[in-house]
Amino acid sequence: MIFGPHLRAELGRVALLIAAALFGGWLLGQTLLMLGVALLGYLLITLLQLAQLERRLSGGWQSAQHEMPAGLWRAIEEHLFEAWQRDRQRRGEAVRLMREFREATSAMPDGVVALDREWGIEWANPAAAALVGVVVPRDAGQHVGNLLRVPAFLAALKQASREPIEFASPRSPERWLTVTLVDYGQDQHLLFARDTTRLRRLEQMRREFVANASHELRSPLTVIGGYLEAMHEDHALAGSWAAPLAEMERQCARMAGIVDDLLELSRLETEAGEPPHDAVDVRGLLARIREEALALGEGPREVVLELAADGGVLGSERELYSALSNLVFNAMRYTPAAGRVTVRWAVVEGRPTIEVADTGIGIPPEHIPRLTERFYRVDPGRARSQGGTGLGLAIVKHVVQRHGGELRIESEVGRGSRFIVRLPPDRAAGTPGL
Ligand code: ADP
Repeated sequence: MIFGPHLRAELGRVALLIAAALFGGWLLGQTLLMLGVALLGYLLITLLQLAQLERRLSGGWQSAQHEMPAGLWRAIEEHLFEAWQRDRQRRGEAVRLMREFREATSAMPDGVVALDREWGIEWANPAAAALVGVVVPRDAGQHVGNLLRVPAFLAALKQASREPIEFASPRSPERWLTVTLVDYGQDQHLLFARDTTRLRRLEQMRREFVANASHELRSPLTVIGGYLEAMHEDHALAGSWAAPLAEMERQCARMAGIVDDLLELSRLETEAGEPPHDAVDVRGLLARIREEALALGEGPREVVLELAADGGVLGSERELYSALSNLVFNAMRYTPAAGRVTVRWAVVEGRPTIEVADTGIGIPPEHIPRLTERFYRVDPGRARSQGGTGLGLAIVKHVVQRHGGELRIESEVGRGSRFIVRLPPDRAAGTPGL
């Protein structure tokens, strides 16, 4: 029904008015004049009501009293008034919510900065002033990169990275911040800055403790290992103790291995900045690791190198040796003698890629995400008996991350595993082969 009840009533009134005018006019013999007068009168009344409505609208609904006579215009006025009231209520609610949000964020110890789609500062809480030096309204509208001129932060802005970034506070360099960018609404962003100085100090203490403890353990272990070896070799002295001495020697070597790996991990963690961009000859490195792997005397005798690329990578030779040898030695350790280990080297889509594949025992899928944690083992008994330290893959992950790359692990139980190291294109050196 396109006609509402009020319009229908109004149309009825108009019809009645016209009928009355026509009848009066017929009686007086002035039909047209009477019709004209009636319609003019109707027009006048309508205009007066419109004027009244306009006054109400422009006056901002000073009172809730409806002064207009009942009818179509009164109904329209009432509808408009209700819509205005609803709108006012919603606006009030929005303002209240906004005030509460600002009060809550003002009380937060973390710095919060609201940014528009062009990274312009819209609003910030008081903690943001103390932590990152953003003060509103003074800095409103400014590009956040103009105020926070920290290379790591500028790079994150440019790459649209949403990973947490750590840097020293520009306001007080002794404080350490963790800054995260979060998207919300339509292309808007929030910057969260948290003071993580305490956490960082604790982390540093942990690292120093592990490094110092490992360092202190190293010399006594070397001495004990030396004596055990000498005793073991001296047949007259060893006698019936030959077997226990051999076991002690093995355990001592295992402990020395753990200490060495812990020291290596500490070194990787404490080393500031990126590793160097030295040209590393990957072919030569892999050939050396292959020789060493075969010399271990365990695992498969078939260790194949598939070298598809000529060039090398730019990085730290020492660190890359440590990572790749760990992968190859693991492949040897977890593959039976009848199996095969294949090491592939190629540049794929500009990215230096090294893959260590084996036909060994494989890894159940639920363990894969945790393999790079320190001392995480799928089968602790087996790993220990095979001389693993439980730190190898943690070292691999650190080295790969420090070189800006990623480690992918694929495996199938009973069929074998593939460990793929992919470095970024800027780590490629020389002529790519693929
Ligand atoms: P570990 O010194 O014990 O080998 P790693 O950190 O090098 O320690 O490896 C962690 C665990 O991952 C190992 O204990 C083993 O269970 C599993 N793992 C690593 N490499 C392989 C592989 N090539 N095949 C099967 N399992 C593996």
